[in-house]
Amino acid sequence: MKKIEHIGIAVKDLDKSNVLFAAIFGKPHYKVEEVESEAVKTSFFQVGSNKIELLEGTNENSPISKFIDKKGEGVHHIAFAVDDILSEVIRLKKEGFVVLNETPKKGADNKLVVFLHPRSTNGVLIELCQEIIG
Ligand code: ZN
Repeated sequence: MKKIEHIGIAVKDLDKSNVLFAAIFGKPHYKVEEVESEAVKTSFFQVGSNKIELLEGTNENSPISKFIDKKGEGVHHIAFAVDDILSEVIRLKKEGFVVLNETPKKGADNKLVVFLHPRSTNGVLIELCQEIIG
């Protein structure tokens, strides 16, 4: 893994949270994107070399809505940039980690993403992401 790509935060109301986090960071989000397959609406903030992703569920079956029902708003996942997501999946499976989706799916921000089940990672939902080129 190369670096932390972003930290994802689950929020109930993206519009309100965009205002809140803009006040914290001293600048507005730079984009909003809906990922229909995941039933989430996201926004991104650039903070130095790091990114923060806010996520709001777009319906009650969204993984984000379910997360908030169980745990409340807050840090949802940490995403790590990788060069070759498929070989990372193979490596991590060999290490015994539970991969939620073995076939990378298209996430927000032009990335292929795979998640590791928090059950196998001390309760931390880990996202691997690889930039889609072209
Ligand atoms: Zn993410």
